[in-house]
Amino acid sequence: MMFVPMKVPLLDLRRQNLPMEAELLGAFRRVLSSGQFIQGPEVEQFESAAAAVAGARFGVGMSSGTDAILVALMALGIGPGDEVICPSFTFFATAGSIVRVGARPVFTDSCPECFNLDPGGIEPLITGRTKAIIPVHLFGQAADMDPVLEIARRRGLAVIEDAAQAFGAVYRGRPVGSLGDFGTVSFFPTKNLGALGDAGLLVTNDQALAEKARLLRNHGASRRYFHSLVGGNFRLDAVQAALLRVKLPRLAEYTAQRQEHAAEYNRALGGHMGVVLPTTHPDRTHIANQYTLRVRGGGRDALRRFLQERGIASEVYYPVPLHAQECFRAVAPHAALPVAEALADEVVSLPVFPEMTPEERGAVVAAITDFLESSA
Ligand SMILES: *Cc1c(COP(=O)(O)O)cnc(C)c1O
Repeated sequence: MMFVPMKVPLLDLRRQNLPMEAELLGAFRRVLSSGQFIQGPEVEQFESAAAAVAGARFGVGMSSGTDAILVALMALGIGPGDEVICPSFTFFATAGSIVRVGARPVFTDSCPECFNLDPGGIEPLITGRTKAIIPVHLFGQAADMDPVLEIARRRGLAVIEDAAQAFGAVYRGRPVGSLGDFGTVSFFPTKNLGALGDAGLLVTNDQALAEKARLLRNHGASRRYFHSLVGGNFRLDAVQAALLRVKLPRLAEYTAQRQEHAAEYNRALGGHMGVVLPTTHPDRTHIANQYTLRVRGGGRDALRRFLQERGIASEVYYPVPLHAQECFRAVAPHAALPVAEALADEVVSLPVFPEMTPEERGAVVAAITDFLESSA
């Protein structure tokens, strides 16, 4: 039999968005005919519906997930001379935002099984200058929050949860984002809830912090041309809010589909010694924003080439840990973080988008199995 390769993309946003074209166009027309493109009811209604998903009292729409982290730091008054502890194995924005407010990121190592920050590494890094901890709920699974919150409470530190990849994930019965002082969410198109452009959300249970964040996202002005704070333009567009309102009711379904793909990968790849599959802790959910496994024995790049020859896309999140990034060399002296460094060399993320077909998933599994058997 001739081998017919099946191309599998890393994701295909058209498959998600085009079936609801009429509804999306309807939302766009609603904004178009309202004439209100900045702030207003579309943004407010999305904010309260989305805050509820994160279990938070207040939601503040943001221009991106990155700006949500930035505004959280600004609202907490963090700036020059301050230190903020965050994982090294995460997306750039987590630490980039710390540097943008003039503070110093202090990098901590990760858990080799679940890829999230290792709470045991936090306390030795705390100094008199430490002001906050930013745990990241990486790939869709909550970080171990209770020890983080306990340390923060005892040492008087703020907690900003970077929930960009974990909107709707639950830790010990509580939705992530609402456990710390602030939670930050991204609606970048590849996240579980994706806008048609850039968008983000800041959530909090603290009314005073919510009000400060609202001021900061609008140049620090509650009344036009009267500025009580120096903020910026970090607003969520009304068009994006309206489009997100169409997609928000489908978030649970998107996540369930991702989780089904992840469960099937776990089942089908479970017996192989050559790979370490992602762990889901029983006390939390994993919303499978990424399905990321570790390839043992230095075979990660060879596996990726093999997949590519079969037409199967994969990606490395993240190939360089943040403590090794050139731009942080001056602000964060290089620490040895062995787990972050090993993960950067060994991880690969597979296609796990909701609309992937069972045939496509089967092609990914078959290719990985062939690779592992041929290299065993
Ligand atoms: C996507 C992401 C961000 C940034 O979100 P944007 O909306 O792209 O600015 C921040 N942190 C993590 C962990 C992310 O994955």
